[in-house]
Parts: sequence; C-alpha cells; structure tokens
Amino acid sequence: MKGAIVAVGREILTGKTLDTNSHWLAGELMANGIRVKRICAVDDVLKEIAQELSHCFSLGLKLIITTGGLGPTEDDMTLTAWSHVLGRDMVLNPQALEMVRSTYQGLYQMGFVDTPEMTLQREKMAWMPQGSQPLPNLVGAAPAMLIREGDRIMVALPGVPREMKAIFYEEVRPFLIEALRERGERLVMVEEVIQSGFNDESHLGPLVRKVMESMEGVYLKTLATHFGPDVDLAVRVEAWGRDEEEARDRLKKVVDALKKGLEEAGDVGD
Ligand code: ATP
Ligand code: MG
Repeated sequence: MKGAIVAVGREILTGKTLDTNSHWLAGELMANGIRVKRICAVDDVLKEIAQELSHCFSLGLKLIITTGGLGPTEDDMTLTAWSHVLGRDMVLNPQALEMVRSTYQGLYQMGFVDTPEMTLQREKMAWMPQGSQPLPNLVGAAPAMLIREGDRIMVALPGVPREMKAIFYEEVRPFLIEALRERGERLVMVEEVIQSGFNDESHLGPLVRKVMESMEGVYLKTLATHFGPDVDLAVRVEAWGRDEEEARDRLKKVVDALKKGLEEAGDVGD
C-alpha cells in the first residue's frame, strides 16, 4: 500500500514547530510495509488543506493520514476539509459526542476544567464527515477520525504528538495491519546497517545499486556523511517479507551479497 502524510498547521510553515509527526509516522508506516510516497505540510486554510487531499487522491495513494487541526478552535478545519473532498456532509457523530462528553466529565471531576457541560466549542470536536469512525483520544479531548471508502483509507489524527502517537498505536496501527492482511499486502520490514569500509559514495553507489537490483523485496541506501580518509560509509539494508521469517531470510541473503561485493571491490582496489 502507498500512502501520504499531510501535516496541517501554520506553526509548521512559520518555523515555530518542527514537523516531527510526519517523521515519526513515516517510520511507523514503513515498518509496517506501507510505502510513504508524499509528505506535505499545509496551512490552516480550508481550501489549501482540501487541495492537498485531492492531490493525494489524484496520485492514487490509498492511505492518507493527516495530523493537526482537530481541536475546538476556529482554525481547526481538517475534518471540514475531508468532508469537502469526499462530498460528505459534516454531521454530529453520536459516538464522538459521547467520547468528548466523557472526557470533559473526567476532566471536571479531576478539577481541570470549570464545567462538565457540552459547550458549542466542545461539541465542535464531535462533528465529522458522514460515515466517519471516531477513534477515542485517551490523552486529549478531540477524537480522531477514520474513513474507509472503496480501497482508500483516510485517517485524521491530532497535532499534539503524544495524542497522535497514542491513537496511532491503539487504533490505527491494528486497523492498518488488518487492512493489509485482507488485501494480501501485509509486509514486515527488518533492517541492518553495514559499515562498508568505503569512503567515497560515488564508488560505493553503483555496487549498492547492483546488489539491490539483484533481489526482490530489498532496499539499500548509502548513508552519506562527509569526505575524508577517516570516513567509513554505512549502508542501511532493508528487507521485506510476508512474515518476519521471509523478511529475515531476505535480509540475510542481501547482507551476504553486499559483504561479498564489498570484499571483491576492496580486493580489486588493493
Ligand atoms: P488541539 O486540540 O490542541 O487544537 P490539534 O489536533 O488541533 O490539537 P494543532 O492545533 O494543529 O492540533 O496542534 C497542537 C500542537 O501540536 C501544536 O501547537 C504543536 O506544538 C503540535 N504539533 C502540531 N502539528 C505538529 C507536527 N506536525 N509535528 C509536531 N508537533 C506538532
Ligand atoms: Mg489546534
């Protein structure tokens, strides 16, 4: 499955916030066999969020995850953008409303908020595109959202990293694993970093490419640093499989091939 991550928030574009959400999510998706083809940050502007989501659709990406813009304030517009792009009305989701209600009840009991009442601002967090599945947010107030339409999966997570990660682990990751299994696309990735003994990427690159192209389900990347006699360039080797055994088997084969290639190239250079 191929996916995109869209980080919503002006604070990212103004340099106030480093988009660690996309970085973290990309690693998680990759580790679960989902190839991220696009990461983008967009402003808190309805039309611009919707345009980016449409663009991800037009690229044929089957998983789109947004982070940010789920809160109670006026500039939180991610779900409205989703509703526009999908042509679905925004409706008050009863399950989401219950989640928001019980969160504020709990916060009131702990003395963190002045009233347990459902204000309009709080209620706003329960408005979602028709047919959404709300995902409970045990760390914050705004529920996250998941929509499945045809073979597309769309997820809206909060911007606060702690909330985003908790919902991803609790709700989204298990869902994705099941969806990949259903499609026969469940892949496991394992990796290893190999020190090449080379200090020049222009020499190492062709060798690494040759090894990568000789095998299925592997990905090799030279980790470039700087030039100098002390440099020992590392190569990150990733291997995929339908289960861990197949992935490990491929990893072993590709690492062996790489080491052999490095040895031979080293001999030639001597
Ligand atoms: P809230 O309920 O707090 O409004 P939200 O889902 O609307 O949550 P934002 O308002 O977009 O999220 O962001 C809340 C905070 O989370 C930001 O101030 C920022 O510190 C952090 N944040 C948002 N997006 C990112 C991101 N992509 N990477 C890292 N941190 C982020
Ligand atoms: Mg917000």
